[in-house]
Amino acid sequence: MVTPEESTTDSQFDTLRARVRGDLLEPHDDEYEEARQVWNAMVDKHPAAIVRCSGVADVITCVDYARDDDVLLSVKGGGHHVSGSAICDGGLTIDLSRMNGIWIDPESKTARVQAGATWGDVDHETQQFGLATVGGQDPNIGVAGMTLGGGIGWLSRRYGLTVDNLLEVEMVTAQGEFVTANESTHPELFWALRGGGGNFGVVTSFEFQLHDFGPTVLAGSLIYPSEDAIDVARNYRDVMEDAPRELRTLFGLMVLGEESYLPEHLHNRPVAIVISLYAGDPSDGYPIVEPLREFGEPVIDSIKERPYKEFQQAGTSDEPYRVYLRSQYLEQLPEEALEIIVNYFDDAPSWDSSVFISHRGGAETAKPPDVTAYPHRREAFHVLIESRWDDAAADFENMEWVSEFHRALAPHTTGGPAMNFLTSDEPEERVRSAYGENYSKLVAIKDQWDPGNLFRMNQNIPPSDQP
Ligand SMILES: Cc1cc2nc3c(=O)[nH]c(=O)nc-3n(C[C@H](O)[C@H](O)[C@H](O)COP(=O)(O)OP(=O)(O)OC[C@H]3O[C@@H](n4cnc5c(N)ncnc54)[C@H](O)[C@@H]3O)c2cc1C
Repeated sequence: MVTPEESTTDSQFDTLRARVRGDLLEPHDDEYEEARQVWNAMVDKHPAAIVRCSGVADVITCVDYARDDDVLLSVKGGGHHVSGSAICDGGLTIDLSRMNGIWIDPESKTARVQAGATWGDVDHETQQFGLATVGGQDPNIGVAGMTLGGGIGWLSRRYGLTVDNLLEVEMVTAQGEFVTANESTHPELFWALRGGGGNFGVVTSFEFQLHDFGPTVLAGSLIYPSEDAIDVARNYRDVMEDAPRELRTLFGLMVLGEESYLPEHLHNRPVAIVISLYAGDPSDGYPIVEPLREFGEPVIDSIKERPYKEFQQAGTSDEPYRVYLRSQYLEQLPEEALEIIVNYFDDAPSWDSSVFISHRGGAETAKPPDVTAYPHRREAFHVLIESRWDDAAADFENMEWVSEFHRALAPHTTGGPAMNFLTSDEPEERVRSAYGENYSKLVAIKDQWDPGNLFRMNQNIPPSDQP
């Protein structure tokens, strides 16, 4: 394997540089520092080289180079996976950020999206035509990583997971072949790509089904003092039990800063928040959100008709935070689980610690767990415990809080996390349980498409002879 020290010699990547059209960056290059960054500032890896691929030809060249020269390979879409698996130490990183073209076909209501695009790019193009697919809740997240891990967004209860809206993928295999996978061509590979992550090849483009949607939605937040948290959480759980699939909501505990819309007594104080989006005609949404709105005494009620694109952009969080988190699914949200959630949050160590519960259902959980590789189709709730902070000296305190919180809640969970939210230090059983009952089928497909585990900088599914 190439070490970072070796990489600074002039000749190390000359052959590769001569063959690619995009930029090949080494540690001495000006743009290298920026290119090696990922969203989680705890990740500090130094690839020997980063190729900002200009197209499929560059991707094939990089895959061939890494395989033939036994160089560690990683693939960077939007660089937002908390584990930092998009970047590798001492190897070659394929950076897809320059491949971010999007082509909309308004007739067939489909979008062809290159693998370096972000969800902000997709919303921008699709909303121009009054169309949308199930994108992420932050415009800076990469389409590629999120889609390959399943993908959950504001439109999931109405239109399913991102992978439920995926029609076709173009990708480069470990052998450097360019293949198309869809329901009729390489259907098993297509199944694996819908939740099996970056284990099978480098995806260069996705084709998505779009829906008539927007531009205006009924959406916004209800904010309460944290003293009301448990009552608000109970009401949230009960209202969502019978809510139509158009309504998607999150219940959260977090600390808001000194935002101008907040009364001063809530500045830098913990609050309970219910965020909602009604994915239908806004006028039909008012009576549906009413049972949430009329509960208690929200300090802020910002639910109103607003552009869908604006709401999607509200989740932007591109600061270089240090981040640690745990994801877990729950079949139910009993009283004891609610108490654990509210009590643990009282000891949150950071100004940006949070816990968010998403009530699932509708199209998100309508299909059987084996219909795609993403297996978590039965669980009614997803809980994400997260801490963000600035100072490395606070690493231990924040990581401990997340881990202890997670352990306390564990008896109420199914044990399986979302693959898109696995940190780099998760034990092997947690990685496996992210793939749930589909794991052994995924191993068989890995054996067929990547028996040498060239694609291992990910939430890895090792081939059967490398357990
Ligand atoms: C602020 C924030 C908000 C989020 N919100 C949501 C949300 O609303 N819904 C949701 O489902 N998830 C969400 N996530 C999680 C998100 O889905 C994952 O972080 C996802 O991996 C991000 O995709 P990316 O392309 O940016 O990942 P990257 O970090 O670039 O890549 C992660 C891994 O994906 C694989 N990969 C990436 N591109 C390719 C490719 N072209 N071919 C093959 N493999 C590839 C590689 O294995 C890589 O290691 C959020 C994350 C953050 C940080």
